[in-house]
Amino acid sequence: MFSGASIGISIYPEHGDNPELLIDHADTALYHAKDAGRGRFAYFSDDLTHAVRERIELKTRLRRAITNHELRLYYQPQVDILTGKIIGAEALIRWFDPENGLIPPNFFIPLAEETGLIEKIGEWVVYEACRQGKIWMDLGITELTIAVNVSPVQFRRCDLNELVRSALSDTGFPAERLELELTESGLMENQEKVVAILNQLRAQGIRLAIDDFGTGYSSLAYLKSFPVNVLKIDKSFIDDIPQLKDDMEITATIIAMGKILGFKVLAEGVERPEQLAFLEQKGCDIYQGYIKSKPLPADDFLKLLQAD
Ligand code: C2E
Ligand code: MG
Ligand code: MG
Repeated sequence: MFSGASIGISIYPEHGDNPELLIDHADTALYHAKDAGRGRFAYFSDDLTHAVRERIELKTRLRRAITNHELRLYYQPQVDILTGKIIGAEALIRWFDPENGLIPPNFFIPLAEETGLIEKIGEWVVYEACRQGKIWMDLGITELTIAVNVSPVQFRRCDLNELVRSALSDTGFPAERLELELTESGLMENQEKVVAILNQLRAQGIRLAIDDFGTGYSSLAYLKSFPVNVLKIDKSFIDDIPQLKDDMEITATIIAMGKILGFKVLAEGVERPEQLAFLEQKGCDIYQGYIKSKPLPADDFLKLLQAD
């Protein structure tokens, strides 16, 4: 057993003149120390109470965001590199907070994971994506895959199988058009259990993708046993093509490996023609990125699709 410690420190009398306040402030500092990583210490400061208070307020508002319909899904096209046609859409969540305007997911998803709100939000996302997908199907768009992000916390805590089953049957969206994106790090956390859950999901007929591939520490042995369809190469490897030789080699290697293991390979965050040319040359299957389009509201995505 290895045990670690994080320490929050408050000092008498600067940070409080009674035990309760001192402990309260030490606790705030502890929270900050943990936030900065494991095995750290932090002193209390007034800025901290301010920051903590802001977080608490934000969490309260996030809780209301679901019932107040402040969450939206935007859709970013996924393009077949050979044909240049849109074959899928990744659903990406947006929060329009009446006070602060648009809040990006990288800011509030971690908060949602901390508070457990991610379960409700994740459920809403799966339902909403299927509902939208069904609307598009009824308009004759039958070949589009819709990809939904699943947080590792949601994967660990929720019965994903049950959620997918009920969302599909309640909305009438076909299983083979739904893809779940799981992060590499999330999958590596609990490998044996993961394979069983993934197999059950695949048995329902849906597709699976590994998101942010290359940023975690995949065990190749397990990767082989994961019943996934798509590897999504993280944007950080694509950014510096064609300037960084290392990144180009890593990208080419992931593409080659993905092919050998029977996965489709998708490159994320493609912004420039040189990047796309390189990916095409290496045999990458699909791309996503601003070069084609940013994530769009459903109406605008439909227009893009119809003009494609
Ligand atoms: P991700 O799943 O890796 O999504 C890709 C992110 O890269 C998106 O940011 C997208 O807008 C951005 N992106 C795509 N192409 C380009 C490009 O060419 N250039 C640049 N600079 N950026 C590009 P976004 O929408 O802010 O989402 C960030 C992350 O938040 C996502 O990363 C995902 O991990 C998480 N997220 C988004 N929606 C959901 C959701 O519904 N549930 C969960 N659990 N997480 C979500
Ligand atoms: Mg994703
Ligand atoms: Mg990603």
